This record gives sequence, structure tokens and C-alpha cells, in this order.
Amino acid sequence: MTPETLEPLTLPADPDAWDEWVRTRAETGLARAAEIVTGLREDPPTGDSAAIEVLRRWDEMSLQLGNVASMGSLFGNVHPDEAVRTTAEKAEQDVSRVSTELSLDRGLFELFAGLSEEGLDDHASRLLTKVRRDFTRAGVDRDDETRARITAIQERMTEIDQEFSKAVRDDVRTIRVAPERLDGLPGDWLEAHPADDDGLVTVTTDYPDAVPVRQFCHDADVRRDMLDAFLNRGYPATEPLLKELFDLRHELATLVGFDDWAAYDAQVKMIGEGPAIPEFIDRIAAAAEEPMARDLATLLARYRQDQPDAERVTGADAPYYEELVRKEQMRVDSQQVRTYFAFDKVRTGLLAVTGKLFGLRYDEVPDAPVWHADVTAYDVVDADSGDGLGRIYLDLHPRDGKFKHAAQFTLTDGVAGAQLPEGVLVCNFSRGLMEHDHVVTLFHEFGHLVHHTLGGHVPWARFAGVATEWDFVEAPSQMLEEWAWDPSVLGSFATDESGAPIPADLVEAMRASDDFGKGAGARTQMFYASMSYWFHVERPADLTTRMIELQEKYSAWPYLEGSHMYASFGHLGGYSSAYYTYMWSLVIAKDLFSAFDTDDLFAPEVARRYRDRVLAPGGTKDAADLVADFLGRPYTFDAYAAWLAG
Ligand SMILES: [Zn+2]
Repeated sequence: MTPETLEPLTLPADPDAWDEWVRTRAETGLARAAEIVTGLREDPPTGDSAAIEVLRRWDEMSLQLGNVASMGSLFGNVHPDEAVRTTAEKAEQDVSRVSTELSLDRGLFELFAGLSEEGLDDHASRLLTKVRRDFTRAGVDRDDETRARITAIQERMTEIDQEFSKAVRDDVRTIRVAPERLDGLPGDWLEAHPADDDGLVTVTTDYPDAVPVRQFCHDADVRRDMLDAFLNRGYPATEPLLKELFDLRHELATLVGFDDWAAYDAQVKMIGEGPAIPEFIDRIAAAAEEPMARDLATLLARYRQDQPDAERVTGADAPYYEELVRKEQMRVDSQQVRTYFAFDKVRTGLLAVTGKLFGLRYDEVPDAPVWHADVTAYDVVDADSGDGLGRIYLDLHPRDGKFKHAAQFTLTDGVAGAQLPEGVLVCNFSRGLMEHDHVVTLFHEFGHLVHHTLGGHVPWARFAGVATEWDFVEAPSQMLEEWAWDPSVLGSFATDESGAPIPADLVEAMRASDDFGKGAGARTQMFYASMSYWFHVERPADLTTRMIELQEKYSAWPYLEGSHMYASFGHLGGYSSAYYTYMWSLVIAKDLFSAFDTDDLFAPEVARRYRDRVLAPGGTKDAADLVADFLGRPYTFDAYAAWLAG
């Protein structure tokens, strides 16, 4: 079978049919997966082709579970009907329960352990290695008592994760200030924040309040009070939860044979070894030292116009003065910038730019059923061969009950001959003029969608699309952001009402403005990454004391007395000890980008090579090998260091 003979899913056209559709798809997928597992347990394949046959069935089982989990996660986050969201969430939880059970199934593990690798091709042999490793990482080969303890740890970790997120989410703090102390904030923000009967304005620690106050408010005491409230969210409630979480992760890692959680977690990443994480952090910190010092000198000079005796810029004042320097010295008027980024033009431009770059066509499918009127469906087609490569949905505007951030969701993973890849971009952009930041976000997220689609034609579900190491996943998206910073690329679609394209010198000024503070920004990231690593490895008795040490070592900004930033640091949940990953991917993204000609970002030879060697293989090779196949050499730190220094 060739890809073009596969058909995308048909979603329900009748709004009332969704709940039943989600329920049925979940039941069918789970039943099929259970049937395959029963077959493997009770009547496993034998003879010369036993290994490949077991792997095929296992991968088909994974595809079935993956279909249910993806559908559950997607519609649990985007469906406008709450009942459908609830049904979808339950489907996702069911898959999670089944997966945990399977991972600790001794009989299945023994089946895989007994298979011979003889005669397997590279992909199948890679799959067998990964499946065996999944089992041992889960602890399947440990005794009954240990396996029971692992199950209990997993359950408690899931609970803590939820309790931690909830404690942070629910702990919205407020400060109350006289209206005249809010001078500097934009007019529409002030209008939305009238004074109450006591003559005071309430400002919360939610981002739409906290970010503008920290950037624009002229009153330094208000900025400091805001930061203090912001950094104490979750404190002290989350401290014992975090300590318990670090202890449980450590116990789990040691039960399955690792020194600590970071070593366990790093085994399945590009970085490979736990101790490589602090080395990487220190390498970035060193590379950022000079760029940080340069920016800090500029910042301090401006700061001293207001605070003549200051020796350092405080964390509470940094965003405000960075904004001032950008405005006074780089002269980027964000109101003017927005006039070039009307949403419809940006969407059209995004499709034109990525289509040209990757050799794709996006054919709108106006009659495809969708879950909300805002959603548009496109078939992705290879521009040369006309082969259908998958379907994508763009769901780009906010509405009640919808996921609040920007992300690519999978609807189906693509497997050659079996299933087309389908993915969804879920964002929350305005329908009118967009901030340039949001344009960059759109390109970034679209990078994941392209990766999902182009990588969805490999022979195994396990390796479909973005199934590469976690610390590589961001690199293709971070690289695609570059196209949203290029004057000629932007000039091709970003036009104002009169049709005039965005001036190249404005784009250059936008870049300079964005670059200001990147050294300090990298150091802040390394402060966070070092907390994420050392909290897991050392499990310090006093998190605040250790945090202060790491802040003094890495951050450009001094510690704010009495604050507890880690208490609301949500990434300690999802990223655990691996917060370094975003920077790691960025190092690789800069190296990948170095292969492109900045005078002709669409040069077809390099773009085609990138598509074929980095995106299309999905997870069939280690990411380091994909990158080396494309660059013709192993990846290096140089392009990133040059960017940071430049
Ligand atoms: Zn991303």
C-alpha cells in the first residue's frame, strides 16, 4: 500500500454525535489492544519469524492505545462540549492505566526477553531494544514486593503532580494599590482595572496582570510587591509535596538500578548521563557570561539615571528597565509592529512559507467535519508527487473550556501502509492584529505539526513523527522560528492596511530588541535548570537555601528576600530533573540553522535534505545521528555560542 491510498479519519458532522463517537473509538481501540495482548500471552508466534511477528503485533497494540490516548488528550482539551471533554479525559486515563499494567507484566517481558534478534532489520532490532528497555525501566524484572512498591510510588507521584499543580493554580495572590501608583500601564489595562469602593485597584498574580505591571509600572515599590507575591505562589503548601516527589522519584530510580532520578531520566535522552546535565549547564553559563555582562552594563547605566547609587539591578526592576532600554535605544514601537500582522495574512503567510520550504501544498478541506466553526482542515500534499501526506487542523482562537496555551496535539500517528498522520495546532491568538511574539509562536508550533506529518510515514508506530528523544523534540520548532525573524520572509506576507510590506529595518530593529538581554535570559534558564537537576540529585533538606545558592551562582538578578520561586516552578513536575532540555534543543537548532543560507532561506537543496534526513525519519534513528546525517558532521556548540556572543 502507498500513502495516498490511506484515508484520514472522518469526524462526526452532527454536534450531538461526538460523545458516542469518542466513546466508541475508545472502546474499539482498547478492545483491539486487549485482544492483541491476549493473543501474545496465550498463543505467541513461534518459529523463524516469531520476533518480527511479536513486534508487529505489539506495535499494532501500541498504535491502538496511542489512537485512544491522542484522541482523549486532544478532545479533552479542545471540544466545546464539556460532556465530550469528560468522556475524552476518561479515555486517556483508561489508556494510562492499561499501559502501566502492561509495563509490569512479567509474562510479556519474558516473551520479549526470549526473542532472537537474528534476521531483524535495523528498525525492528531498534524497536526490540526499546521495548525491552521500557520493561526494565518500569521494573518488570524486580520481585513481587518491589513491583508492588513501584506501582504504589507511581500512583502517589500522579497524585502529587495533580496536588502540586492545583496548589499553584489556586494560589492566586493579590496586591491592592492606589490607581495613581499604576502610572505607566497601558490605557486598556487601566480601564479594565477600576478602583473599588476603598479607592484601591486589585492586581492579581495571574500573567495578564503580573507581566504588564512588572514591565510598565513606574512605581518601583509596586513592582517589588508584585514580584514578591508572584514568587511566593504555592509557598509553603507545595514545599512538602515537592520534597516527597523528589524522594519518591529517587526511590523509583534506585529500585530499577540507577544512582538517582536524573541518571534514570537521562538514559532515554540525547544527553544520556545524569552528570552531563550540570556540565551542560556550566557550559551555557560560561558562554553567556560576557553577553550578560555587556547587557547588564547597558541596563545598569540606564538604571543609574533613576538610582544613582545602585550597584546591581534588582530582579523586581529588571523587566521594567529592559523594556525601557528597548524602547529608548532600539526604538521598536510594538503598536506599529502589530499593524503588519493581521491574523488572516499571517495564517496565509505561514502556509505559503512552510509549503515553499518543505515542498508541500496544503489543500483546504472545507467540507471536513470539525469540532468548532473556528477550526480549518487541510490535506497536506507533497508538492512534487501529489501524494497525500496527512491531514492537519488549525484551531487557533480562544474560547471557553479550551486549552489555554499553544501546542501541537496528535489526532493519529502515521504509520506507512496503515494510518495517515493527523495533527492539530491548538493556540489562542487574537482574530485581529497579532503581536510578533505570537507570530513566532505560531511558526514554532507549526514546526511540531510538520515534523509529526512528515515523520508519519515510517513502518512502526513507535517511531512515528516526533518520537525522538525529548531533549531534541524542540529543535525543529526552534529552528523554524528563524523564518519568522527574516525580513524578506516577513515582507512576503506581513503587510499593513495599505498593502505596504513590513520594512526590513523595522525587522532588524525587532531582532536587536529581542536579542537584548539574551545573555541574562540564558543565565536565568540555567538557574532554573540547576534547581531542576540538583533538587533531584541532592534532595536538600532546605530547598530555599539551595535555591538561593544556585540563584547567586547563575542568575543575573539577586535573590529577593523572603521569596520562594521554586514553590510555583511547575516544570519541576513535567520536566523533573531535565529542565535543561529547552536550551539543549536550542543549541542544536542553531547548529541546524547554520546549514541554511541566510540570504536564501528557501534554497531547495538544503531544505530537501533537512526534510528527508531530520524530519521524515521520525524516531527511527537517534537524534544525534539524524543531525549528523543532515549536517555531514556531529552537532557542535559553536553556532549557539556565536549567536549568544553576537
Ligand atoms: Zn515546542
